[in-house]
Amino acid sequence: ISETEQAVLDEIERKDVDFLRLQFTDILGTVKNVSVPARQAEKAFSEGIYFDGSSIEGFVRIQESDMRLVPDPETFAVLPWRQKDDSAAARMICDVYDTSSGEPFEGDPRRVLKNALERAEEMGYTVNAAPEPEFFLFEEDDEGRATTKTADHGGYFDLAPKDLASDVRRDIIYGLEEMDFEIEASHHEVARGQHEINFEYDDALTTADNVATFRTVVRAIAAQHGQHATFMPKPIPKINGSGMHTHLSLFTEDGENAFHDDDDEFNLSDTARSFLAGVLEHAPAITAIANPTVNSYKRLVPGYEAPVYVAWSDRNRSALIRRPAARVPAASRIELRSPDPSCNPYLAIAVMIHAGLEGIERDLECPDPVRENIYEFDEAKREEYGIDTLPTNLGEAVDALEEDPVIYEALGEHVAPKFVEAKSQEFEEYLVDVSQWELDRYLETF
Ligand code: GLU
Ligand code: MG
Ligand code: MG
Repeated sequence: ISETEQAVLDEIERKDVDFLRLQFTDILGTVKNVSVPARQAEKAFSEGIYFDGSSIEGFVRIQESDMRLVPDPETFAVLPWRQKDDSAAARMICDVYDTSSGEPFEGDPRRVLKNALERAEEMGYTVNAAPEPEFFLFEEDDEGRATTKTADHGGYFDLAPKDLASDVRRDIIYGLEEMDFEIEASHHEVARGQHEINFEYDDALTTADNVATFRTVVRAIAAQHGQHATFMPKPIPKINGSGMHTHLSLFTEDGENAFHDDDDEFNLSDTARSFLAGVLEHAPAITAIANPTVNSYKRLVPGYEAPVYVAWSDRNRSALIRRPAARVPAASRIELRSPDPSCNPYLAIAVMIHAGLEGIERDLECPDPVRENIYEFDEAKREEYGIDTLPTNLGEAVDALEEDPVIYEALGEHVAPKFVEAKSQEFEEYLVDVSQWELDRYLETF
């Protein structure tokens, strides 16, 4: 076994870890665990751990259900909310292998992202990514079920005492730091009960792992405080929803930021501009992956700082892509503002990368930035500027995905059809349902 693997075994010993959670995600981005006694760690490294994949969303058909999990030792972390004096639990994120072929399993979202990173590498790039996940903290009712009542009444960047949830946020941050997160900033978001915690950018794979971990940590620690943390994109109508803006940049083999150009008006290189153009071109299909729930589209409406229109800007927040101010060349990057935290981070980052690389390969021309508030444009003005609109519901987004071979194929032969199937079904279920809004509006009127 490798040096890193040995270090993990030592750590297990030292920290009295008795259970290991072997973690992976299904196509929908839900974190799954197989828990094994820690003494199986060595075997997990050398042989992997076998499990039945037939019950995991979109993984395999019943008749070929044996999968193998191989933990990535770099991802070892003790779970801070499971630590006691003489016992602890830890987790490792795993790659999934197909037992019959022995190859990496194409249905593993982490594999889909690795494929995107391999394409980048072949073009001479590594990819950095940083997410800005937002979430709500809600009270639980007497039966421990989530409500949409918030404990605080704070607003953007407000401090205690208004911000009652800051205690919970502080504990979440301590927990994340114990799991080796570099927290950059955290603040109360615009909406009541809404928070944002930003962590340091990293290579794209680590960032996707971090998002998966982040959601687990936030929910677990909130629960310890009797609060329910939700990453549902729009839990309350008519106020801001939760986004997960994603910052991206490409670095060259010698560690230079390929997105930076001193001489450009926006400090964006031609590479960055073509990448940006690629993301704009494939934005409708990306939406299906980055905004994968019925509820996601309740967020993507004008007026709540979420994007609706396919355009980029060097300043305003109504655009789909923003170029954030960068203080140093290494920080030149683009920010995609559409993703929301209900997405599968592996798939979402993978499709953004493929779209951007496609733009570079085809040397796509980047349109001019739009500096006005696009929410205030009427249709004629949008047409004049050539600004498209993002899909307005999950059904449209799935159609866009099916019509875009670049993004569809980026998901691979296994994930693409399963994703489309699952999401079409979800949307159809929604369409035949009768909502509270309809009852309120029509039941007594007609
Ligand atoms: N909550 C907003 C959204 O839905 C983003 C607010 C911000 O700019 O941080 O994307
Ligand atoms: Mg924010
Ligand atoms: Mg942002």
